[in-house]
Amino acid sequence: MAVREILIIGDPVLTRKCEPVDEITADIVRLARDMVETVHAAPGVGLAAPQVGISKRLIVVDLSVGESQEALHVLVNPEIVSAEGEAICEEGCLSVPDIKEKVARPYKVSVRGRDLEGRPIEIEGEDLLARALCHEIDHLDGILFVEKLSPLKRALIRKRLRKSAGSPKRA
Ligand SMILES: [Zn+2]
Repeated sequence: MAVREILIIGDPVLTRKCEPVDEITADIVRLARDMVETVHAAPGVGLAAPQVGISKRLIVVDLSVGESQEALHVLVNPEIVSAEGEAICEEGCLSVPDIKEKVARPYKVSVRGRDLEGRPIEIEGEDLLARALCHEIDHLDGILFVEKLSPLKRALIRKRLRKSAGSPKRA
């Protein structure tokens, strides 16, 4: 296993729609394990394959950041099958360093996908788990959370990111 480099906003891979995983090969399993290690090392609560430069529909979410095996979800080809309610909460992204903004997300979602053995799985998530699942699935469609903000907020963030572009990267 290895910690992979996390791409930062501005990288074209982050705005590309990802391809479904057709077959769970040894490479996909390795990628998933590396993503788990990478998100724990960051530390963060979720990571999508395009954030490490791979345009495939694969996400990991772990609200416990490595504390609990049960909290770790690895999902191949995840899809939101139902969403309920709304919650507004501060959100950040490992690909958008040092920016945290309030984003509206569904309060509850059901997500279907496959595990690394190819078995179908369905996860129900509320509150922060729903938020993390939606955030990571957005990445698979090339959407960063800052795109959910108002044009004014986005302009301010662009300005801040340009200013910090000269400073060393955290990733
Ligand atoms: Zn993110």
